[in-house]
Amino acid sequence: MKKKIIFATGNSGKMKEIKSVFSDFDGEILSMKEAGVFLDIEENGTSFEENALLKAKAVWNQTGAIVLADDSGLEVDYLNKEPGIYSARYLGEDTPYDVKNKNIIDRLAGVPKEQRSARFVCAIAAVLPNGSTKVVKKTIEGYIGYEEKGHNGFGYDPIFVVPEYGKTTAELTMEEKNLISHRGKALRSMKEELEGDI
Ligand code: IMP
Repeated sequence: MKKKIIFATGNSGKMKEIKSVFSDFDGEILSMKEAGVFLDIEENGTSFEENALLKAKAVWNQTGAIVLADDSGLEVDYLNKEPGIYSARYLGEDTPYDVKNKNIIDRLAGVPKEQRSARFVCAIAAVLPNGSTKVVKKTIEGYIGYEEKGHNGFGYDPIFVVPEYGKTTAELTMEEKNLISHRGKALRSMKEELEGDI
């Protein structure tokens, strides 16, 4: 039987990334929808790792397959690491990102560059068919810009500046971003962790 990995997300951008990182996997990579799993999972954990694990476990409970899930967000040091695990829900789940981004820039008005440090965080959890679990967490460090810049990516990308490039992650191509991003690094690290197990 062909091996299957289910990635517990409904986000097509994330699916593209995982399919690209796991392109040499000898089996199928399926989204929840493709696997016929329809679950509304409440992210009530207190850390990125917990939330990733509870999503992966919920899908594993229904399928018994190899399941991966991620949880990610933006931490702004000056704002006591807000929005953190609440990044998607910040100012309301349905609030457009130009409003969320402008709000963060406004809250940092007058704050000098040295105090605008921030990072994207991504935790990836895996549950194997025998129920054993693995979790990895990776970050990309940067700072909050003074205005929104760029149109690539999604979410907080237009305000997150990568110092090495002097550009926001919304100004990088998807390939450039994946090489250095929290999610790209976490996916590659999880792939290494799983070598031999899958
Ligand atoms: P999740 O889908 O529950 O992991 O929510 C992650 C949220 O964090 C997203 O909705 C974005 O607001 C934010 N986020 C995570 N990764 C990125 C990124 O690479 N760029 C921009 N925003 C991100």
